[in-house]
Amino acid sequence: MDTIPLHSDRTTHSPQRRCSVVIPVYNEEEVIPELIDRLQAAWDQTPAVHWQVIFVDDGSRDRSAELIRARSVEDPRIALVRLSRNFGHQAAITAGLNHVEADAALIMDADLQDPPEVIPDLVREWLAGGQIVIAQRLSRKDRGWRGLAFRLYHQSIHWVNDFKITAQAGIFGLIAQPALGHIVSLSEHNRFLPGLRDWVGFERRIVHYHRDERAAGTPKQSFKNLLRYALDGIFSFSYKPLRLLAYGGIASLLCGMGLALMRVFQVAAGQPWNGIDGTSLLAALLICQGLQLLALGVISQYLARVCDEVRARPMFLVKETLGLSPAPAQANEQRRAA
Ligand code: UDP
Ligand code: MG
Repeated sequence: MDTIPLHSDRTTHSPQRRCSVVIPVYNEEEVIPELIDRLQAAWDQTPAVHWQVIFVDDGSRDRSAELIRARSVEDPRIALVRLSRNFGHQAAITAGLNHVEADAALIMDADLQDPPEVIPDLVREWLAGGQIVIAQRLSRKDRGWRGLAFRLYHQSIHWVNDFKITAQAGIFGLIAQPALGHIVSLSEHNRFLPGLRDWVGFERRIVHYHRDERAAGTPKQSFKNLLRYALDGIFSFSYKPLRLLAYGGIASLLCGMGLALMRVFQVAAGQPWNGIDGTSLLAALLICQGLQLLALGVISQYLARVCDEVRARPMFLVKETLGLSPAPAQANEQRRAA
């Protein structure tokens, strides 16, 4: 990873709050000039905050890094982290967050679907006490199969997930310390930031906005990556699909046993038994399938617990303590982590 140092004019003891905007970039040369102009205009409206933008060049093969580098010479608030190859949207955001030293990180995409004009609203909510400020879409302009898939996904994720994630919200939003530090320190690799952002808790606020169309160029996330991201959103926060396996097994087993009993009663009531007929076969099939699904459901309950242990998300996060020294709690936490 190649990091271009920040030409920061920040005074270390400045009482001003500091915010770093983290933007993943992959072949976005068409949008970068307009993006930076609009960011600068948004910052001009929020002079109470000391700004920095950390562009994360996720292995672009166009002139994105070159354009950002040129603008960083003119404006010291612009920084760049270059990844060694294309690692994907979530990895690029994680790389950017790892470089944030500010009091808060504001995360947004480069393609101007997340309008920089919403930044002053997000910052207002932060300065008013919000530690996590989520930009929630009132509308989105994606059309065709992409628009349909996004809408369907957001409807279904709400039903599937055991842990309810804020609806109609993507990565666009602001995360302040200490929530930011907790998110950065999570070790899991299949990261679904909108879910983790809700999972950490803390004081949350919502800002509504209308999601624009991409300003220029074509979407950079492939269908495969979007699908993987969508599945991370489901499998990182739900065990319902695993439970459905067991429920399906029980339903199949009950149907099969019902059919078998019906056949036994029919024979007991005098109906002739002509060997194995269709009903008996179906009953046997349903019972076997039910047992298999039930067994899978039981195994997946163990798997779910293994997943929890491997992810190693902390069991809880403390917001504040009153009348207590943090030392024993910290020592206990370290002992547990060891
Ligand atoms: N992006 C990235 N790495 C990738 C693909 C995309 O950093 O491999 C960036 C891209 O430049 C943009 C953001 O992630 O800033 C979202 O990408 P895109 O707009 O293509 O995704 P969509 O709007 O379909 O979610
Ligand atoms: Mg986009």
